[in-house]
Amino acid sequence: MIRLSVLASSSKGNCSVVSSGRTHVLVDAGISATRIRKGLEECGLSTAALAGICITHEHRDHVCGLGVLGKRAPLHLYCSRYVSRDLREASPNALLTYVEPGSAVSLGEELRVTPFCTSHDALDPLGYLFESADGCRLGYVTDTGRILREMPALLAGVDMLYLESNYDPEMLENSGRPPELQERISGDWGHLSNEQACDFVRRIAHPGLQHLVLGHISPECNTPEIAEGCMRRTLRELGLPTQLHCAPMAQRLPWIAVGRSSAPVLG
Ligand SMILES: [Zn+2]
Ligand SMILES: [Zn+2]
Repeated sequence: MIRLSVLASSSKGNCSVVSSGRTHVLVDAGISATRIRKGLEECGLSTAALAGICITHEHRDHVCGLGVLGKRAPLHLYCSRYVSRDLREASPNALLTYVEPGSAVSLGEELRVTPFCTSHDALDPLGYLFESADGCRLGYVTDTGRILREMPALLAGVDMLYLESNYDPEMLENSGRPPELQERISGDWGHLSNEQACDFVRRIAHPGLQHLVLGHISPECNTPEIAEGCMRRTLRELGLPTQLHCAPMAQRLPWIAVGRSSAPVLG
């Protein structure tokens, strides 16, 4: 079994919980420690129960909670070697495990994670593929300006996918943002548009994709309705039975679970 709960997801803060039932980890800690603790409590967990935190990259909306969260007890961070200096400054007593794209690492007793490269204007940004002991797989793709060649190959066959669907190009154009910022967002080292997210799903489409969670939806250049509408059309075209979810920006998305022996559970 593998399950995902999103505590927050947008350019204002990102943090998710991945659990196998017995092993629990966070992906990113880009909201306040208070909100992380409260979110974990709503999940029936605490920071002490975490086997670690997988960091995608060093941008503030992914790491700003680390400093305070690590004050009570040292955190175990899984990150790329290049971002470790920034993380070390933010959380001086953290235990760091460096991860390399393509090399799987065990997290606690029941989870394995394989990092992969994303294309983003950060030091060495990563996405993650989580696998539970019973073979359930969750792909976690955020903050990437384009789909890199390795991603569809690695994430083919996932049971669940968390996928950035950041902006609607027309809304971005009419957002009043300076042209340089617009180019940064829509460029190869920025974020995925709704249509790029749909393209990615077309490339990994398979009937076993039970749940798809859209995340990092821009509050100014997108709406959950537009992102969801675009993806819903794609899933219909593909004839997939996938359940579609939108991670709320500042509220918890309750547990979504996939298991090998039982039907998918919403909790
Ligand atoms: Zn971000
Ligand atoms: Zn970022």
